[in-house]
Amino acid sequence: MKLDVNALRYLSREEFRTLQAVELGQKNHEIVPASLIDSIAGLRHGGTVRCLKALLRQKLVHHDSSKYDGYRLTPLGYDFLALKALVNRGAVAAVGRQIGVGKESDVYEVLSPQGEVLALKLHRLGRTSFRAVKSKRDYLRHRSSFSWLYLSRLAALKEYAFMAALGAHGFPVPRAVEHNRHAVLMSMVDATLLVQVRELRHPSDVYAQLMDLLARLAAKGLIHCDFNEFNLLVDEEERVTLIDFPQMVSTRHANAAELFERDVECIGRFFRKKLGYMPELDAGLACAAPDFQAIVAAAEAGGAEGPDGGSLDVALSASGFNREHAEALDRWVADAAQQAGDSEGDEARAKARSEASQRASRGSLKAAVKKGRRQAAGGADF
Ligand code: ADP
Ligand code: MG
Repeated sequence: MKLDVNALRYLSREEFRTLQAVELGQKNHEIVPASLIDSIAGLRHGGTVRCLKALLRQKLVHHDSSKYDGYRLTPLGYDFLALKALVNRGAVAAVGRQIGVGKESDVYEVLSPQGEVLALKLHRLGRTSFRAVKSKRDYLRHRSSFSWLYLSRLAALKEYAFMAALGAHGFPVPRAVEHNRHAVLMSMVDATLLVQVRELRHPSDVYAQLMDLLARLAAKGLIHCDFNEFNLLVDEEERVTLIDFPQMVSTRHANAAELFERDVECIGRFFRKKLGYMPELDAGLACAAPDFQAIVAAAEAGGAEGPDGGSLDVALSASGFNREHAEALDRWVADAAQQAGDSEGDEARAKARSEASQRASRGSLKAAVKKGRRQAAGGADF
C-alpha cells in the first residue's frame, strides 16, 4: 500500500482531532457511531461532519452505514496517526520510498530532522490471515472490535522492546529509535539482504557468525524463530545484522529445541543450496550446528553476564512489553501460522520480498535531500 504523506501536510487540526476520535471510539466499537465521534472530538458547529467527509475523501476512515451511521479507521488512517506522533516528537521529518514489503509489514525509508535516513516499519498483523483467525479470537474477547489495531500495536511494541534490549546487549541489530502505535522507527542497515547475496568472500566466516549469533541468543534465553535469508543482512565487510523480531520466543517455550533447530537448518539449507557451501564438510569450522541443550544448560548453570544476569528480561520490561502482551501475540502467531499454512506463506513472502528488493535502492533520499531538502524522490517533507 502506498503511504501518501502529502495528505498529512494538508490535514487540519480539526481533521486530526476527528481521526483521533475515531481511533478512541474503536476501543469499544468495531464501527464507531458518528454521534460518538462528534462527542469525543468536541468540535463546534457541525465541524465533525465536515471533517469526517474530508477524512473519507483521503481514505483515512471507512464509512459503514449497514447498522447505523458509523466509521472506522483504515490502515492508512492508523499510519497517519502514528506518523503524526513521530513527526510531533521530532523523530521523523520526511517519508521516502517503500523498501520492503513483508507478509505482515511495510517498511519505508524516512528521514530524521537531522538528516539521518531511518527505516520505518509499519506492522500489519492480520493483513493476510486475520479473517481466518477471527473465529478463534477468544483471547481478544474484549478487544475484538479493534483487534488488528491492537495486534499490530503489540507486534510493534515487542519488536521495539527486543531490538532495544538486544542492542543494549551488543547484538548486531538495527538501533531502536522510537515506536508509536504499530510503527517502529530504527536505523537503516546499509547492507544487502542475504537472500540477494550470490557469493560470499568468506562463507565460512559468515556461517560461523550466524551460528554464533543463534548460540548467543539462546544463551540469553531467546530463539529468533524466523532466522533466515530474508531477515539477515550482510554488509561490505561481510558482517551480519539481524532484523524482524515479533515472533521471537523464550528458550523455555514448549517447542524450543525444535524451533532452534529449524533456525539452524534454515541457514544450513541456504548455504548449501544457494552458496554451495557445506558446513559439515568444512574442517576449519569450529561448530557446524550449535548444541541447544548444552547452551541452555550452561546458561542456567550460571552463565550470567552483566548486571542483569543472563536474560534480557530487565531490559525488555523497561520497554513496557509485558507477559500479557506476549501471550496475546504468541497465540495469534500460533493460530495464524496454523491457518495460513507455512509453505504457502513463505512462498508468497519470498515473491513479495524479491519484488520489493528490486525496487529498493539506497541513498536516493539522502541525495535528494542534499539538493535542497525539498521534494525527495517519491517522498515529501512535512
Ligand atoms: P516482515 O516482518 O514483514 O518480514 P522485516 O522486518 O523482515 O518485516 O522487514 C521487511 C524487509 O524490509 C526486510 O526484508 C528488509 O529488506 C527491509 N528492512 C527492514 N528493516 C530494515 C532496516 N532496519 N534496514 C534496512 N532494511 C530493512
Ligand atoms: Mg522479515
